[in-house]
Amino acid sequence: MADYVRSHLGVKIFLSYLAIVLIGLLVLGAASQFALPSSFDRHMLGMMAADGTMPPGMGMGIRPPGPGSFSSRAEVFRDYRASFNDALLIAGALALVAALGLSFFFSRGIVGPVRALSLAAQRIAAGHYDERVPAPGSDELSQLAARFNQMAEKLAQVETMRRRLIGDVSHELRTPLTAIQGSMEGLMDGVLPPTDETFQQIHEEAQRLDRLVNDLQELSRVEAQAYELQLSPTEITTPVATVTKRLTAQAADRKIGLVTDLAPDLPRVLADEDRLVQVLTNLTSNALQYTPEGGLVTIGARKVNGDVVITVRDTGIGIPLAHLPRIFDRFYRVDKSRSRQSGGGSGIGLTIARALVEAHGGHMWVESPGADQGSVFSFTLPVAG
Ligand code: ADP
Repeated sequence: MADYVRSHLGVKIFLSYLAIVLIGLLVLGAASQFALPSSFDRHMLGMMAADGTMPPGMGMGIRPPGPGSFSSRAEVFRDYRASFNDALLIAGALALVAALGLSFFFSRGIVGPVRALSLAAQRIAAGHYDERVPAPGSDELSQLAARFNQMAEKLAQVETMRRRLIGDVSHELRTPLTAIQGSMEGLMDGVLPPTDETFQQIHEEAQRLDRLVNDLQELSRVEAQAYELQLSPTEITTPVATVTKRLTAQAADRKIGLVTDLAPDLPRVLADEDRLVQVLTNLTSNALQYTPEGGLVTIGARKVNGDVVITVRDTGIGIPLAHLPRIFDRFYRVDKSRSRQSGGGSGIGLTIARALVEAHGGHMWVESPGADQGSVFSFTLPVAG
């Protein structure tokens, strides 16, 4: 019985109503027992005094009344109390029925949604992430249902991302692995000559695997925020100089100009300098990679409202409009084959760069007028207070 009560919200609500009714009846019963006689007495005395049948101050409990009047008043009181108790009984019975009805009505409104939430949670736990509950009103239960739906939506997104990630990672791993396996088999069967070129190819594929695994490790660290940002007021010119120095030789090799365009009197930004160098290196080496000979890559910075906006602009192959919204997605490459052939990465670099900028409280975006018209990658960093 106790277990049944403990596990049924509707029964608990009914019992709470019942308790209120019983307390009400007890209070009324006690009032009838203790307060009613003196109150009745006062009223009778008042009435008699008004009739002139008894002087004020004389009452049932105060002074022995004259013959006849005491017994008749006591009888009147008994009758009165009996009818009061009868009324109390009827009222109690009606209150009980009302408690039953009301608890049934309200518990339907409370237990129904709670049960729906519990069933939906059970289905979500079983992997049905499309489960939702109705959230019609604006009371706490409806708010809970709305939050529950938000949580379910988020879980569904995470699950989709997880599935896509596993698919993408296995796909990315398979390509170099198949190439290495094929070359090794060719070597063992004597189909492929054991030349420097063959070994070089195998080595490149192994390097690609290594890069991919490193990128994945870095991505998971960045996305899980499993690193500490060493934020400090930073002159933007310092990381920009580091990156241009690092990539000047590469730009010269490819006959691409690498210049800076920094606004004068730039305020210092609140940033982790190493991470900032990492982001700038990624954007600038992308720009160099996707810009043909004779092009120009410009690293710029200017102050806009409370932020410093840093841009990496190139005159390269650009990004077609249809690809812009997905360019920061993991493993997303505009042209997979071109990226591979030109020694490109796995499409994780921009995802890492954006996650790093967001960890600084900034945001990153890209603009491109279209294919062969260059691209501009921009991000904001907060000005150091
Ligand atoms: P990857 O390591 O393949 O370069 P990224 O995440 O850095 O990966 O870039 C994702 C894709 O975005 C690239 O494969 C390329 O198609 C496109 N991309 C990035 N930067 C540029 C750029 N400056 N110009 C044209 N396309 C670019």
